[in-house]
Amino acid sequence: MAEREHVRVAVIGSGFGGLGAAVRLRRQGITDFVVLERADAVGGTWRDNSYPGCACDVPSHLYSFSFAPNPEWPRNFSGQPHIRAYLERVADTFGLRPHLRLNSEVRGLRWDGDALRWEVDTASGALTADVVVSATGPLSDPKLPDVPGLDTFPGKVFHSARWDHDYDLRGKRVAMIGTGASAIQIVPAIQPEVDRLTVFQRTPPWVMPRADRKITGAERWLHSKVPATRALRRRLLWGIRELQVSAFTKRPNELGLIEALAKAHMRKAIKDPATRARLTPDYRIGCKRILLSNSWYPALARPNVDVVPSGLKEIRGNTLIASDGTQTEVDAIIFGTGFHVTDMPIAQRVTGASGTTLAEEWKGGMEALRGSTAAGFPNFLTIIGPNTGLGNSSMILMIEAQLNYMADFMRQLDVLGGRIALSARPSAVQEWNRGVQQRMERTVWNTGGCDSWYLDANGRNTTVWPGTTAEFRRVTQQVDLAEYEVLRPPAGTDGTSGDRLAEEVAA
Ligand code: NAP
Repeated sequence: MAEREHVRVAVIGSGFGGLGAAVRLRRQGITDFVVLERADAVGGTWRDNSYPGCACDVPSHLYSFSFAPNPEWPRNFSGQPHIRAYLERVADTFGLRPHLRLNSEVRGLRWDGDALRWEVDTASGALTADVVVSATGPLSDPKLPDVPGLDTFPGKVFHSARWDHDYDLRGKRVAMIGTGASAIQIVPAIQPEVDRLTVFQRTPPWVMPRADRKITGAERWLHSKVPATRALRRRLLWGIRELQVSAFTKRPNELGLIEALAKAHMRKAIKDPATRARLTPDYRIGCKRILLSNSWYPALARPNVDVVPSGLKEIRGNTLIASDGTQTEVDAIIFGTGFHVTDMPIAQRVTGASGTTLAEEWKGGMEALRGSTAAGFPNFLTIIGPNTGLGNSSMILMIEAQLNYMADFMRQLDVLGGRIALSARPSAVQEWNRGVQQRMERTVWNTGGCDSWYLDANGRNTTVWPGTTAEFRRVTQQVDLAEYEVLRPPAGTDGTSGDRLAEEVAA
């Protein structure tokens, strides 16, 4: 049988997390790695989400890598094509192309406890890796609600993250299901084209004004000629958001002030008090992600738009039936119903040291040490792992913190030397998560009176980090070896001593 290819590191995914990991590995002098990508191009969620109006609601100078600044961002909140192009440039600039394995969906990962490595089965062949860095991201697998009758709908159906650009919406009766961050960008973009647009709003979002504008030529010139101005801009954007954190995590009542601003924002576009009442949330702002848009309410006020203040319950032929009984006939349904976040799909494909999958281990809720490593899954790190999400700032900051942790993890493996693996101690994982969950009790995400994708099926918040990005960066700066077991191969398999050692390493 032919020898399988072996690499030091297999990175899964080529979005911000996977490309960032690749850059970081190269910077550390590690070149023996591959980036496994299921699609035929890099970009992750910024490749998949190409819906009309798609843009980032975090300012671009903050929503980009610190090591790859872009003085040319065209707007405060740049659009998807610019962000996608930025990631393509990162792949070129940092020499990542030779590492990329496109069309290589990871079908399964199995830990080999004798050889101390991962067996990786991909759509383009099998390989083994000492370390796996899973950067599949929380916004990669679309979630469709289980609506009875959907299979009988004779018209067009697609999800916001799988936009069918060949389908012409002009003159069509369209249903938009959901009122999350994706839907509020789609609705204003397609409203002028369609004949009728019916928005199914199960829960109204809080929407704040969006301070978007073009970044002027003079600013761009300055940012490219005097890099300190670009750094200052980034620091200000970061600092403002760090100051907001305590209101989300410790004093949700302070957010009442922001609700007043959001209500005033709605009043400007929606004149009818009964409509305003239907669009006003009954939970604390920040409990779900705060949305930013200047065009959402004006679009809802257009004569060809209806809001059904209820979820989609059933479909009969062309007719959509809402939970409140409203019936609407449509030609096309667009699901803006989000992603599989708390039930991370890759977890079903990862089989750890005791033969169980990560999904099985996480039945009661995802948990990992410092957002990265799970007990029983040696040499396996997750980028954007459990409780590393943010409610109000740039995920790139969290990704970079996790990359620091990954880099130190690799360093520790080298320092310890030989064929070796680090496995998070169950006690360390538990202690870390106890702390996280304790802090979560006071946060707006848990106390604000809403249901959101931050919470899993058990109502546990396994997605958001209950602190500042600075704190997360601090606690992921280094791997604390006392939190890990050091595994070495059993006797005879690589010429080293005795039974498998689980070395107690002093901190
Ligand atoms: P989402 O926030 O999970 O929103 C899903 C929406 O679908 C919710 O409004 C939900 O209602 C609704 N829904 C689910 N089932 C329904 C049903 N049967 N009938 C009616 N409505 C139903 O998904 P998303 O909008 O795709 O956004 C996901 C995340 O992606 C965001 O929170 C954000 O982190 C990211 N994102 C970011 C940007 C950006 O600008 N940076 C843009 C888009 C997305 P309930 O609220 O009642 O559950």
